[in-house]
Amino acid sequence: MRASAIAAMTPYLDSCFANPSGSHRFARQARKALDEARDLVAELCGVKPGEVIFTSCGTESDTTVLVGASTEAAHRAVVCSAAEHHAILDPVEHLGGHVVGVDCTGHIDLEALSAVLDDRTEVVSVMAVNNEVGRITDLAAVARIVRKSAPQAVLHCDAVQAACWQDLRHITSHVDAISLSAHKFGGPKGVGILTLADRHTLRPMLRGGGQERDRRSGTQNLAGIVATAEALRVTVDEQPKELARVAALRHRLLTSAAARIDGLTATIDTESSVPGILHLCVEGVESESLLFLLDQAGVCASAASACASGAMEPSHVLAAMGVPTDRARGALRLSFGYTTTEDDIDRTVEVLVESVSRLRSHEVRR
Ligand code: PLP
Repeated sequence: MRASAIAAMTPYLDSCFANPSGSHRFARQARKALDEARDLVAELCGVKPGEVIFTSCGTESDTTVLVGASTEAAHRAVVCSAAEHHAILDPVEHLGGHVVGVDCTGHIDLEALSAVLDDRTEVVSVMAVNNEVGRITDLAAVARIVRKSAPQAVLHCDAVQAACWQDLRHITSHVDAISLSAHKFGGPKGVGILTLADRHTLRPMLRGGGQERDRRSGTQNLAGIVATAEALRVTVDEQPKELARVAALRHRLLTSAAARIDGLTATIDTESSVPGILHLCVEGVESESLLFLLDQAGVCASAASACASGAMEPSHVLAAMGVPTDRARGALRLSFGYTTTEDDIDRTVEVLVESVSRLRSHEVRR
């Protein structure tokens, strides 16, 4: 977590412990902190405070909008791309929705999207940035198609991977709803954000005390929410500087690793992806063994999405992009952020060179 986010949350774990829904003086103090956090998040996202719903994670935000804004499951009324995170893909499949294919870079196929939309479509969900390969979606193009062919639909964007690298105000200018997850931008785990434009209604998944304007009952995680607002403030503040700094770090890693390791290539063009993600395919090595050696040397990486890397299943994203299985077998996803330094990059290159060479010489058997 960002240090200032920890500092911001600490009083709400200690001296200001009241429930923001109460009516006594301590509760009013807690309510004030909640309102201020909501105002700040709304401003940074370019929406109204009343359009911000605090949830428990990105997954909850995604499911809330897919389930809460759709009614006609039998009519295949929800739509997403084949490269979405499982937090979107699984509920869409569960609701019997349409999963639209992607091109070889992971971008949603716009013609195929247009073909499945009609006047019964209720939710269209397209991610801003893919979590495995970092592909940036052309949301303006997606929005044009959705507004034309399904103007009644809620256009939702899973922006979980975008917060550090993209202007959230720009994203919300194109879509009706976004999901965020606090731990992706230096906030705590256990806080998610869903924004939903006022003109759309939502059937709540959690009913009860009526918090979050009846859209998500349950006592708010006040300390976590205060920390989330602070983490987002710093993220947005530092974004221009970090974009350039991290892009230079990624370039340094890719050029020096590619110069020293034959058969190591970026899976997609770095221009179409955010600086925080570098997806590589390394010929002649198995991801699982490579990750094992990297981990032993202190380099933490993954092969598919972080959530699935324990299971080592083939990545649905690479499969949807048509990456041949042989190539996908050597997949490696490296991610960079505000804590990454030049020394980390140089050390990673050394470890990568050494690990690939050991694997190729069959020195390592697991
Ligand atoms: N969406 C995307 C694009 C993600 O990368 C993730 C997590 O990595 C999620 C949703 C799920 O977020 P959470 O783990 O907060 O539920």
